[in-house]
Amino acid sequence: MLKHKSAIITGSTSGIGLGIARAFAAQGADIVLNGFGNAAEIEALRAGLEREFGVKVRYSGADMSQPEQVRALAELARAEFGQVDIVVNNAGIQHVAPIEDFDDAKWNAVLAINLSSAFHLIKAVVPGMKARRFGRIINVASAHGLTASPFKSAYVAAKHGLIGLSKTVAVELAEHGITSNTICPGYVKTPLVEKQIADQAKAHGISPEQVVREVMLSHQARKEFIQVEELAALAVFLASDAAASMTGTALAMDGGWTLH
Ligand code: NAD
Repeated sequence: MLKHKSAIITGSTSGIGLGIARAFAAQGADIVLNGFGNAAEIEALRAGLEREFGVKVRYSGADMSQPEQVRALAELARAEFGQVDIVVNNAGIQHVAPIEDFDDAKWNAVLAINLSSAFHLIKAVVPGMKARRFGRIINVASAHGLTASPFKSAYVAAKHGLIGLSKTVAVELAEHGITSNTICPGYVKTPLVEKQIADQAKAHGISPEQVVREVMLSHQARKEFIQVEELAALAVFLASDAAASMTGTALAMDGGWTLH
């Protein structure tokens, strides 16, 4: 479905981003992986995806909190593939603290990585997309882009902001063959959430099982974690020709969390 397309997926060395990268490669897209991690493990991942799916896979360790590195990531994709058809703004971090104790540097980092990186990457790829009259911008926000939870001021602000950015870009670029949509997942059991389970168990003085049942999945009507593969399938659809008329949406895949 994505043959002859090239895609950048930020934060794709782990979790949801890696799931989307795998699904894009499985559909024939050439991809640029991005994110942090052990160099040997990332190289094994990169080479493994190339072997398994017969596509080109490149890697950039660009730090998404640094605008010039975001621009370099776009440049690498252009140099390697000649064009960037799809970007998935997925890199994200979380920090949980009461507002009065919320560390200033953490606020800046969450906003930079979860929101501003998307602005810089979109800005860098749009001229090429406009010239080719094709582009797919997919932003990974969260149910926290649509609703709030206590102690997540920076994350909730960034994810609401990402939906606003996506809608604005969607109206600006609608007549250029470029779409911009946002996926809003509920809880997915990735390394980001594994860490939160441990942190919240400590903070609340309850067991990890209670954190999952009573804190995380309490709002999700389905009471199950969202699967990375489900989100990846939605991203593939949004990247496809079939989604040409779909733009500016914020699609919840949250097990019935935000319907309350
Ligand atoms: P994860 O921790 O498994 O993966 C995050 C990825 O981002 C990793 O590849 C990491 O190396 C990369 N990353 C972090 N900081 C970076 C930086 N400065 N520059 C470049 N890469 C960086 O997390 P995940 O759960 O897969 O989260 C992916 C996205 O999905 C995030 O935006 C997150 O907010 C969102 N999300 C996650 C959940 C969930 O329950 N896991 C729910 C809703 C939304």
